[in-house]
Amino acid sequence: MNQAESGTATQIVKCEKHGLRYNAATQSGCVRCRREAGEFPKTGATRAPERTARQGMSLSAALAISALLVLATSFAMLWIHTQVYDQTQRLMESDGYEEFTPDGYEELTPEEREKIEELFREP
Ligand SMILES: [Zn+2]
Repeated sequence: MNQAESGTATQIVKCEKHGLRYNAATQSGCVRCRREAGEFPKTGATRAPERTARQGMSLSAALAISALLVLATSFAMLWIHTQVYDQTQRLMESDGYEEFTPDGYEELTPEEREKIEELFREP
């Protein structure tokens, strides 16, 4: 009586294959049966487009960020290149090497200079 009043018939049956109970009135089989029949991917499919849409959004966002990073890196590289190029040009044009001579270098003996230069030559 109660079942009829609620509007949904209930017919609990035990699945012979899996031993799981299910409502035969509303379900074609137990949870495992329906999973095997491919009924669950259907419910998953309703969620999948949402997920792919979100992934698509994050993908385009990632692409935009990547593009920005590439652009920023390119500009940074260009800036560094310009700086180095300017420095090199200045060094080659003038007596710029003098600027890099450390204090007291002139007072060192040729042997000591050799040793220091060797240190810098071999990393
Ligand atoms: Zn089953």
